[in-house]
Amino acid sequence: MNHTARKRFGQNFLHDTHIIHAIIQAINPQPDDIVVEIGPGLGALTRPLCTCLKHLAVIEIDRDIIEYLKNQPFADKLTIYSGDVLKFDFAQIRGTKKIVGNLPYNISTPLLFHLAHYADEISEMHFMLQKEVVSRMCAEPNSKHYGRLSVALQYFFAMEEIIAVPPTAFDPAPKVDSAVVRMITDIGRIGVAHNFNHFSQLLTQAFSMRRKTIRNNLKGWADDDDLLNAGIEPSVRPENITPQQFVALSNDLVEKNKV
Ligand code: SAM
Repeated sequence: MNHTARKRFGQNFLHDTHIIHAIIQAINPQPDDIVVEIGPGLGALTRPLCTCLKHLAVIEIDRDIIEYLKNQPFADKLTIYSGDVLKFDFAQIRGTKKIVGNLPYNISTPLLFHLAHYADEISEMHFMLQKEVVSRMCAEPNSKHYGRLSVALQYFFAMEEIIAVPPTAFDPAPKVDSAVVRMITDIGRIGVAHNFNHFSQLLTQAFSMRRKTIRNNLKGWADDDDLLNAGIEPSVRPENITPQQFVALSNDLVEKNKV
């Protein structure tokens, strides 16, 4: 198909067969798996996935691409959902799902937060993303990439970067390096927030100014005693606080009704 890549849909199509093979190996699809691919595009991953699976659900926003997919030999294995994945209700696909995709980079952060809502019905995810985003997702405390995204996602998932991907693997080539991340659902690994909304808002507030101390960022939310109770030294920066300490602090504040 003569498809001109659409920038507004973040279209960078994979064409490096070694990388495609490595991604499929990492996903390790089994025939009966319930797999959902986000953004199948011209089928670089869809085609090999369909050779392994009995069925594959795909979500795609570009209508021209959907027409193309409907005419492919593997189309009989596909259920195609047409529309914006950010508005997609993953619960409509029954069962425990594996989600995969070479994601449109322009919506990757809101998409990861959207997917986190469905974490309890997802077993694992494999995504191609901007390398810098993967570093932020997997970052540990006391490192420059550690922030709200790291803690918010590590609450639900154990994550690791598994494949580094250069711009030349795509057509058109993006301006940035990419990486494949594996995300295994593991809710409770950093503790359980008794009020998830509060935990989530606390993170936003805590990381609002990275260079400021946690005492400053949480003014009006928590005093020094609250911080010390959760094992947090008030003069440290948010990047020095572990995910477990954020959960403990949120639970303390909720218990004290300081919400
Ligand atoms: N999987 C293909 C590949 O690896 O070559 C295409 C990947 S391309 C980076 C991203 C794909 O996501 C495109 O097919 C694009 O049309 C689709 N897409 C972009 N925004 C989307 C959205 N909001 N909802 C669903 N699909 C979207």
